[in-house]
Amino acid sequence: MKFDGMNGPNFRESSAVQNMNSNGGHSRRPWTSGGLILAVALFIAAAANVQFFSAAVAAFGTGSTLWPFYLSLFLNLTAVLVLLLSAVCHRVLVKPVLIVILMLSAVLSYFAHAYGTVFDAQMIANALATDNAEAGDLLTLKMVVWIVLLGLLPAIAVARANLTFPHWKTETVARLKQAGVALAVILVSGAAFSGHYAALMRFHREATSKVIPAYAILSGVRMASRALPSSTPKQHVAVGTDVMRSSTDQHNELIIMVVGETVRADHWGLNGYARDTTPNLRRENVVNFPDFWSCGTSTAISVPCMFSNLGHDTFDKSAAAVTDNALDVLSRAGVNILWRDNNSSSQGVAARVPYEDYRDATHNKVCDDGECRDIGMLDGLQDYIDRQKGDILIVLHQMGNHGPAYYKRYPKEFERFTPVCATSDLGSCTSEQIVNTYDNAILYTDFFLSKVIQLLKSNDQKFETAMFYLSDHGESLGEYGVYLHGAPYALAPEAQRHVPAVMWFGDGIKQDIKVTSLEERRRRKWSQDNVFATLLGFFELNTSAYVGGADILERAHDEVTDLR
Ligand SMILES: [Zn+2]
Repeated sequence: MKFDGMNGPNFRESSAVQNMNSNGGHSRRPWTSGGLILAVALFIAAAANVQFFSAAVAAFGTGSTLWPFYLSLFLNLTAVLVLLLSAVCHRVLVKPVLIVILMLSAVLSYFAHAYGTVFDAQMIANALATDNAEAGDLLTLKMVVWIVLLGLLPAIAVARANLTFPHWKTETVARLKQAGVALAVILVSGAAFSGHYAALMRFHREATSKVIPAYAILSGVRMASRALPSSTPKQHVAVGTDVMRSSTDQHNELIIMVVGETVRADHWGLNGYARDTTPNLRRENVVNFPDFWSCGTSTAISVPCMFSNLGHDTFDKSAAAVTDNALDVLSRAGVNILWRDNNSSSQGVAARVPYEDYRDATHNKVCDDGECRDIGMLDGLQDYIDRQKGDILIVLHQMGNHGPAYYKRYPKEFERFTPVCATSDLGSCTSEQIVNTYDNAILYTDFFLSKVIQLLKSNDQKFETAMFYLSDHGESLGEYGVYLHGAPYALAPEAQRHVPAVMWFGDGIKQDIKVTSLEERRRRKWSQDNVFATLLGFFELNTSAYVGGADILERAHDEVTDLR
């Protein structure tokens, strides 16, 4: 016993010495930085780019003559990754850069796999603007497993690799040789299959946007260069400084604008969807706009765009941030403005007007399980209305149909279409379950909007009242393997761009708009570019910033004219 007891520590000591030896690199395979870069490039090309290769196969086909091209595509992708990594990996940077790239690729490939997400500059901006609650919605067990297998484990292997650095001259020569070989692979395979590559670039850009992580990094660089402070600080641009109230406007307006979230036009009951997802609005005799289009495919673009006078073609988020929007012009004309938000933020739109956050229980009285309901935004609104003197515009920014956790967006009693998809992992649900859940969330918005109308009705004696609802953008529900939204606008499917829009009018305000032409006007093609003029039109404001032709509602009074 005594003998054993004395021997134990000695045994442990010697094994510790052995461990030190192996960590010191005597028994583990030594890696050069070039070798490690190549290994990581091969791993990312093979493991993280399945979506890219399936998009390429979908574009070109599966014929056996195409296999040499697909092989060249794989080699080419690996070579591009080697070149990119070589450019930034030097000495102490090798491991950190490779670890970051592996983790990033794992996350990007998960979203590409689960939601068909393309990480362009806009999607990166959306991701950065995502708050904790939204991020929590996205977190699933599958995502964790995916990122551990494709990101964390290889990253740990890189961190533990026995990296050796020869003399800097030897190292430089070896790395230049590697870059040369990579370049040769790109040139030779590019020349051998030039027709295929040209077709890929020209006709299948969607496929190239799936290259991980190259496309996201390029987009990130592009975005960062745009976000860098320019040499001259941006001056605030005033719009509509000549704004005046119309002399014929004797009444006070009370307009409630509801900025919806992620509702697509073809699931809107009033647009003729096979399911009646808007039974309450149908009863309220609202004016439905069946041909309404979004400015962007994300909240971060559509919301500031619809309030700005820049319009889709010239819209720029950073320019919009320092330019007066519709709320600023209305505010200058003396309209009382209140923005209540149950979404992420006003995206800068309400930066200069009163803003209230309804995403947590401090303001919102209707919250359960961390989910605060849109209906909570109506709480105390009558008191607010009673306290104001003059015109009022209230903007309610909904949580609406925000995905992928559609099942969280409505109380149990709105679960009319079943079975539902009670998870954020849309890939694990059938398309029927996803659509059911999504449609239930629209039912809740329909209910919410009917409550807004009720509030307006009870104020119709005192004010000229109206409600204007429109969704910020639509949503892909798995068509072509694409989920959610945020696709580059030019490539985005109609489902992400075609949105529902409705108006409701109280009795008083009908004298100010040409109700007779409404039936014809509501059928025209409109977009969020028309919101700026329409909001100014509601309050009968005269300003050179008001373009009458862009106003969805024609004014009834002739003296109120376009000053341009
Ligand atoms: Zn949105």
